[in-house]
Amino acid sequence: MILVLNSGSSSLKYALFDGAARVAAGTVERIGEPGSPTPDHEAAIAQVADQVGLSTLPLDAIGHRVVHGGAGFQKPTVIDDDVAAEIRSLIPLAPLHNPANLQGIDLTRRLRPDVPHVAVFDTAFHATLPAAASTYALDRAVSRRYGIRRYGFHGTSCAYVSRRTAALLARPIEELNLIVLHLGNGASATAIQSGRSVETSMGLTPLEGLAMGSRTGDIDPAVAFLLARQAGMSVDDLDDLYHHHGGLRGLCGDNDMRTVLRRAADGDGDARLALDVYCHRIRRYVGAYYAVLGRLDAIAFTAGIGENSPEVRARTLAGLLRLGITVDPARNATGPAERVISADGAPVSVCVVPTDEERAIAEEVAALLNQSAPAPVVSSVDKT
Ligand code: AMP
Repeated sequence: MILVLNSGSSSLKYALFDGAARVAAGTVERIGEPGSPTPDHEAAIAQVADQVGLSTLPLDAIGHRVVHGGAGFQKPTVIDDDVAAEIRSLIPLAPLHNPANLQGIDLTRRLRPDVPHVAVFDTAFHATLPAAASTYALDRAVSRRYGIRRYGFHGTSCAYVSRRTAALLARPIEELNLIVLHLGNGASATAIQSGRSVETSMGLTPLEGLAMGSRTGDIDPAVAFLLARQAGMSVDDLDDLYHHHGGLRGLCGDNDMRTVLRRAADGDGDARLALDVYCHRIRRYVGAYYAVLGRLDAIAFTAGIGENSPEVRARTLAGLLRLGITVDPARNATGPAERVISADGAPVSVCVVPTDEERAIAEEVAALLNQSAPAPVVSSVDKT
């Protein structure tokens, strides 16, 4: 059995897999928030340990989601003290995420030192980005010194969704050029060629790219200079502004897409603008990534908004028939979750593919364990 832990800054998701079967799952929310019964991550881990009976669970491994793996971690990695120290050294690149991930790692390594703990990195799938895509046009000495480059995130989800999309289309992944649109609270677009990430919208941190629930995404870097000089904002003020007062929330006060859609339908101007900005930005990336790929076989929508909002999907891709992209209104509105929503025979297959981050992590952990298992002994009789 494999236990997967996905610790965010204020939540802890877990799932327990026995082979392909998810036998337990849950989420501890509002960790450390006022009035919450869970004061910190240690308490959250204790709750999960209690719920799954961690001390006696027959486990093969524990898989940990780690948001930032820097340039060094390009695949799932068994955690020892050195690996944990290296993840710690990456905290400046992911100050909101890596500390929570590390707490989960440290606590469960103490509780279950007898099983392998495996770190699965959000950045790892994007290790294949070509230099032209991963390099900022910034003084190279400065970039080198501080590890400044585009890393990309949502990689585990992207890899999983691209595999599922290939299966849905019954095509080998090696033949496919895809765009995965991961539209959740965080949002990203990724161009994938033959199963390899070649462009992605998040950069050094998960702030770049699409407009998100409360993050600005792309914004002229000079806005920060102006606000520092004219409004006297500090670095921390700007960090808070860009992360928590941008995106849908910054534009209309609500970061939940369901509320934004309801308000827009009722004619609320701010909500309409928020929706327009949100969809326009995605559309711009689809066009750009189509050009990067040269040929496009499929677009996959995933995560909370991508999976559940026919309106966002339809608006984002409206009027792109000349590019071979169509959304069939009936297929978009109804049907089982994982499906093709473009017209039959369309040059670009538009798909809805639910992501499952915990399962994706479990699959990566299982693949690593199988690789490192001793090779089966071949008896002399079998040798030819
Ligand atoms: P995630 O981070 O993947 O859990 O996605 C969260 C986002 O999905 C929030 O903005 C939700 O409002 C949005 N979402 C969930 N269900 C729906 C829905 N039925 N229609 C539109 N947005 C949804």
